[in-house]
Amino acid sequence: MERYDIAIIGTGPAGLEAAITAKLRNKNILLLGNEELSTKIDSAHEIKNYLGLPNVSGSDMRSAFAGHLKAMDISITTDRAAAIYAMGDFFAIQGHAENYEASTVILATGVSAEKPFPGEKENLGRGVSYCATCDASLYRGKSAIVVGYSAKEETEAAFLAEIADKVYYLPVYDGCDTAPAGTELITGVKPTAIEKAEGGLMALKYDNGETAEANGIFILRENIAPTDLVPGLEIKDGHVVTDRKMATNLAGLFACGDITGTPYQYAKAAGEGNVAALSAVSFLSGK
Ligand SMILES: Cc1cc2nc3c(=O)[nH]c(=O)nc-3n(C[C@H](O)[C@H](O)[C@H](O)COP(=O)(O)OP(=O)(O)OC[C@H]3O[C@@H](n4cnc5c(N)ncnc54)[C@H](O)[C@@H]3O)c2cc1C
Repeated sequence: MERYDIAIIGTGPAGLEAAITAKLRNKNILLLGNEELSTKIDSAHEIKNYLGLPNVSGSDMRSAFAGHLKAMDISITTDRAAAIYAMGDFFAIQGHAENYEASTVILATGVSAEKPFPGEKENLGRGVSYCATCDASLYRGKSAIVVGYSAKEETEAAFLAEIADKVYYLPVYDGCDTAPAGTELITGVKPTAIEKAEGGLMALKYDNGETAEANGIFILRENIAPTDLVPGLEIKDGHVVTDRKMATNLAGLFACGDITGTPYQYAKAAGEGNVAALSAVSFLSGK
């Protein structure tokens, strides 16, 4: 397997700036994220505080960022990290589509407004999963409920349905009228909590008071908590703890952008991305 110098997780301003800086320093990089870059760039109506781009719309800012990547021949690997493990001399990154290895990692996955359901964290890895592709094989001949937070999750649900006996798909976003291939659509309810049920099953509670049961419940969101993504990572008040070099408590793993704390701003995210990449370069030189 190819071992990258620096794996950058996230394609918001923090990850993109880290990628540009690392590429300028001739590092072999993996930039993991999505072609749309970040919904937090696109959703901004008018941005007035980003240097060099006065009164820019979110979509124009996105085009400017995408153009910069293109000009520097930086490509995005469209995948999502499901788990990152410190292996001593390198990091093993479990993606939804593939697995990767890198000598250093820069975490730039932003923050999520969505809170976990009661019972979600307690049952993670014990009937609750965040990655259908990674855990599908555990559900051969079994049933699962997939809670999808965006249309991107439909492909994962369809993949799970190829392996599991029965898959229900519950979209918590607008516009999903057709069930992903092989699944049965659940509509008109919102999930509220997760519990263990009789016979090794999991129960998903709905806002109408009803409950559905299955062997497993998949919660597919864009962001997962940094502690679920990277075992052993130090967190304080919901943010990754870093020093001024954007180094975390795990040697070789750096973090930047919203994930390290407020203020949540493009310029702060990009600035920290720059520092994180330079710190990763120094770390590699010192090895
Ligand atoms: C509506 C709105 C308006 C805003 N207006 C302004 C403004 O005017 N000025 C300002 O300075 N700031 C503004 N902000 C804040 C700004 O958007 C954020 O501070 C900034 O986007 C943070 O950048 P980031 O790179 O840290 O994270 P994000 O932009 O959130 O990017 C994180 C990226 O990581 C990806 N990701 C997440 N998990 C994974 C994973 N496991 N594997 C791979 N990729 C992953 C996501 O898909 C995303 O691409 C606004 C925010 C919003 C929502």
